[in-house]
Amino acid sequence: MIRSFRYPLRPNKAQEAVLDVYLWRARQVFNAALEQRISAYRNQGRTLTRYDQQRDLTELRQSDPDFEAVPATVLRSSLKRLDLAYRAFFRRIKAGEKPGFPRFKGRDRFKSFSFMVKPSIDGSTILVPKLGYVKFYKYREIRGVPLDASIRKDSRGWWVSIQCDVGESPRKIEPAAHAGIDVGLASFATLSTGEAISNPRLFRESEAVLAARQQVLARKKRGSRSRIRAKKLVARAHERARNQRLDFARKLVAQLFTRFDVISYEDLNIRGMVHGTLAKSIHDAAWGVFVHALTCKAEEAGKWAVAVDPRGTSQRCSRCGRLPDVRKSLSDRVHTCVCGPPMDRDHNAACNIDALGLSALEGSREAA
Ligand SMILES: [Zn+2]
Repeated sequence: MIRSFRYPLRPNKAQEAVLDVYLWRARQVFNAALEQRISAYRNQGRTLTRYDQQRDLTELRQSDPDFEAVPATVLRSSLKRLDLAYRAFFRRIKAGEKPGFPRFKGRDRFKSFSFMVKPSIDGSTILVPKLGYVKFYKYREIRGVPLDASIRKDSRGWWVSIQCDVGESPRKIEPAAHAGIDVGLASFATLSTGEAISNPRLFRESEAVLAARQQVLARKKRGSRSRIRAKKLVARAHERARNQRLDFARKLVAQLFTRFDVISYEDLNIRGMVHGTLAKSIHDAAWGVFVHALTCKAEEAGKWAVAVDPRGTSQRCSRCGRLPDVRKSLSDRVHTCVCGPPMDRDHNAACNIDALGLSALEGSREAA
């Protein structure tokens, strides 16, 4: 089981200058490698692999001291990142989703690199290749065996993430208590018990702050000093929102798994994210963070998180299985059926998700 531990990194001025150079060169390698892939495909119909490009990178480092000064592994992490972007692109095409071709990265879109080697950690310092030991703020202990590390710069400063192998996952417990969870529109989500989990007020506040700051940014002149300041404020609002989502997701998942052994949820990757309003995209992001926390925690705790295809879950009656004569539209908030009293739409969907998840789980356990 791999877990990531993130800490604020505290480089001194000289180290910071070197890290900035690493980021800059890593970004150049990423963009050059993307360019190379595009032209190899255009001119020769050839698809370059990460390993083709790694050979070229070795040559580049031998002939150019600017790149020689940066660790080979750090630059290779850009090739890996590009390769992952390509794979994701082809996977989305195969799944019939909106593909999104890998993009060239401007300075604001490229903020991290990986070591690609086992990091050496001494107390609260970490050995950065070709740079030396850099301090970090170790507010909690690292567990397991460090495998890799990455460094990221954002508007608040530098961060180090240490990826560790924390050992075997615990044996799965025998599933007893179970629930389904349906992603909401008005609320964050609804459980098959009928409970609605409301959106934290904080989400709405940071949404408003973000929207306001984006408007300010849009009015600034390109290349102006005040535009740089406005951009920083937007980045900070994004980061704040991201931390809030993470915090909310972790707490909610912890609560859910103290009550239930099996939690089934909608796999929105199946449906494909709908691009719409800002509020919608923030909500989708929050759901993504929640699902990630849910699957991690399930593995850690020996419990079950089961992804369910959401198609039809909001239409079908969870009590009798009938499909309605008239399809519910998004604005129909109540589920009605001849078999019983009306029910909240999301509650009905959550019950369907619970049932689908349980049968998928049984199926997979019988097969194993
Ligand atoms: Zn019914």
